[in-house]
Amino acid sequence: MSHPSRYDHHIGGQQVPPSSGEYFTSTNPATGQALYEAARGNATDVDRAVNAARDAFEDPRWRDLSQTKRGHLLRRLGDLIGEHADELAEMETLDNGKLLREMRGQMAGLPEYYYYYAGLADKIQGDVIPTSDRRVLNYTTREPLGVVGAITPWNSPLTLTTSKLAPALCAGNTVVIKPSEYTSATVLRLAELIEEAGFPPGAVNVVTGFGAEAGQALVDHRTLAKISFTGSTVTGAKIAASAASRFIGSTLELGGKSPNIVFDDANIPNAAMGVVAGIFAAAGQTCIAGSRVFVQRGVYDELLDRVAARARSIKIGDPMLVDTELGPLAFADQRDKVAGYVDLGVKEGATVLTGGKATDGGLGGFFYEPTVLTDVDNSMRVVREEIFGPVAAIMPFETEDEVAQLANDTEYGLAAGIWTTNLSRAHRLAARLEAGTIWINTYRAMSPMSPRQGFKNSGVGIEHGQASIREYTRLKSVWVNTSEEPVADPFVLRS
Ligand code: NAD
Repeated sequence: MSHPSRYDHHIGGQQVPPSSGEYFTSTNPATGQALYEAARGNATDVDRAVNAARDAFEDPRWRDLSQTKRGHLLRRLGDLIGEHADELAEMETLDNGKLLREMRGQMAGLPEYYYYYAGLADKIQGDVIPTSDRRVLNYTTREPLGVVGAITPWNSPLTLTTSKLAPALCAGNTVVIKPSEYTSATVLRLAELIEEAGFPPGAVNVVTGFGAEAGQALVDHRTLAKISFTGSTVTGAKIAASAASRFIGSTLELGGKSPNIVFDDANIPNAAMGVVAGIFAAAGQTCIAGSRVFVQRGVYDELLDRVAARARSIKIGDPMLVDTELGPLAFADQRDKVAGYVDLGVKEGATVLTGGKATDGGLGGFFYEPTVLTDVDNSMRVVREEIFGPVAAIMPFETEDEVAQLANDTEYGLAAGIWTTNLSRAHRLAARLEAGTIWINTYRAMSPMSPRQGFKNSGVGIEHGQASIREYTRLKSVWVNTSEEPVADPFVLRS
């Protein structure tokens, strides 16, 4: 599988060159070599895309389509993604360096998201409200919002796009997507599959380019009815401010610094694997990375030994090979950021138990060794800030009460893991932890059926599950006078 050498925007069902004529280069992070060029979008391109989406929103082919038929289109799209899953997986691996076997798994699971929302499409409905006046019929409807802007990061491009796109289309909106400048290709390929599935032209548009140009222009566009963003907390705050200034809604899925907590009574081999999966899978480039590991004192040494031993044996290399266990970071700056954090940790007093070095993986790429930091605590920046790389900070604790406070002592609240065989403790702590997703004796489980939401600085709004439909609809209340009585003069006092 290879990429075309150049990609244009996808607007109104057509490949559209950038109005500036400029393209930018996307690099294969495993080799450092140029992979393809993508259109460098600007405000003019974004305007064209939003107008195409607005036209499509008002086009009877979309507006008047029954909800059941919207579901059929989503189901067809799911089928097409399934048929092209291997191709999409290879494209994503070349683009962001995640393991091919992980991306194959993600792509094989992606149709489920479309099937789930296909099933929900004709279950979006309002209520009849029993008001105090029986002569009046009051009912509510749930309407689509209009044009939704979707802005996504590079770590799981198609899955994170799908978390926005599938519910937005299910609810009858049209969409303009601005993918990460590091991973433009698969979202453009998805746009082609969307046309093939039979969605009307303009229902989904893709403008590629940089955040400060294409992204900002999309966020600031006056026609947009909603912004759905996944990315860093810093960018999310800017986007929320722009949306709030125009009183439009924003769904924000942001950063994390999730605790993974191991108690003395846990199954330690399982917990060690859960810690390894939580931080070293995807080279730590997941929002839900279990980057703060708290281990009860009685099993601290054993757990540390197990995690460090597995970290040392992780096979670094070409993400396209099935036996590789750790691929590169997605681009050179990300590798440098991770290296900078580990250096900072050492200056703050941390010990590098294992890892701690950048490497080119023998391929010229942007790799970083799986790293375990000890002698760390909540006052250090390596424990407080999101690194987004394969770096675990492992800390001992004594009591459940202490670990609840330590785990919650963070600005983030995305996810948390609890490893214990004590059922009461598991549920007690699940209730106490300030995070939108809690995993007990597992980590990284996810489904389109289960809602997820970041607490605190990890986000606003819900993705997945039935609740996500509310993010893409507005409620209308309709009052109908059903009586034949004359309408009273409002200025004549009633006797
Ligand atoms: P980022 O915030 O730098 O960029 C995300 C997207 O926003 C990109 O498409 C970028 O071009 C765009 N962007 C940047 N500045 C913009 C602006 N001013 N206006 C509009 N768009 C702008 O994030 P990233 O580095 O690509 O991704 C990593 C971050 O994403 C991490 O913090 C990670 O935790 C977070 N993330 C969160 C989730 C979640 O579900 N909570 C999932 C994956 C990643």
